[in-house]
Amino acid sequence: EPTRVRGDVEFKDVNFGYEPGKPIIHDFSASVKAGQKIAIVGPTGAGKSTMVNLLMRFYDIDGGAMYIDGIDTSSVPRANVHDQFSMVLQDTWVFRGSVKENIAYAKKDVSDQQIEDACKAVGLDRYVRSLPQGYDTVLDDNSSLSQGQRQLMTIARAMVQDAPILILDEATSSVDTRTEELIQKAMDNLTVGRTSFVIAHRLSTIKDADMILVMNHGDIVERGTHDEL
Ligand code: ATP
Ligand code: MG
Repeated sequence: EPTRVRGDVEFKDVNFGYEPGKPIIHDFSASVKAGQKIAIVGPTGAGKSTMVNLLMRFYDIDGGAMYIDGIDTSSVPRANVHDQFSMVLQDTWVFRGSVKENIAYAKKDVSDQQIEDACKAVGLDRYVRSLPQGYDTVLDDNSSLSQGQRQLMTIARAMVQDAPILILDEATSSVDTRTEELIQKAMDNLTVGRTSFVIAHRLSTIKDADMILVMNHGDIVERGTHDEL
């Protein structure tokens, strides 16, 4: 088990392109303290997802460095870097397996109690209990879970995973007001005590962020708090 990081994050002059000679991220620098919430906003294609993918070391950068707790992440095995992240991605997915397995997916040795607690925290527990076999009900990607329920399940998965750094790519799909409230509350819970990078669409997320990074064409074009911008 790698040690759990505090969650200080630094990007230093990061450069990256998916193809040689076609840079997408230019001299990206940002410094984030453990526990802070960073909202990343900007138009489609701005490089928001690329930026967080680079931090998780899904790709190798072309220049610069990224540090977690002051340690250059390129000097650490990729798997140890991955272990520091919980992800809630835009595209929710459910695989063929029980509700339990779907929620425990990212972590070994999860107790039934932890799974239930996470479902209660996101407001899914009652729904799961109404299923024919409760938490043992087998789901697959064609299951009749609504879009909102899928999002809540993804959040429960990240809660159980309990990593020190959170990547949250907010979904834009519309859900009813009640579900929206549940998702909002669950996401707020999830960011507490973790360094959080939220690719934000919700105004509420942007408002209470410690720092907002406005990206365009791979650059930060503005940064500051909601009041400053
Ligand atoms: P959105 O709001 O639509 O999710 P984004 O800000 O997350 O946009 P990115 O996905 O980071 O944007 O994309 C930044 C640029 O990199 C875009 O021009 C995109 O076409 C390109 N890009 C993204 N992923 C790849 C890839 N796997 N291979 C090649 N180019 C890519
Ligand atoms: Mg994206």
